[in-house]
Amino acid sequence: MKVKDPVCGMKIEKEEAAEKIEYMGKEYYFCSQECAEKFKDNPEQYAHQKNSHGHGCCH
Ligand SMILES: [Zn+2]
Repeated sequence: MKVKDPVCGMKIEKEEAAEKIEYMGKEYYFCSQECAEKFKDNPEQYAHQKNSHGHGCCH
C-alpha cells in the first residue's frame, strides 16, 4: 500500500518507509531519516499540509 511522505510529498510503500511516526493519532511514513527529522522538528506544519509539492529531498 502506498502512503505519502508529508515532508517531501513522495509516495512510498509502507514497507519501504525509512521511518514511521505517530502524531495526533495518525501514522506518517517517511522515505528517509532526513524527512522524519524534519517532521519531528515541526510536525504541525507537515501534518496539516495538503496538496503541496515537495522539494524532492531524496531519490
Ligand atoms: Zn521524503
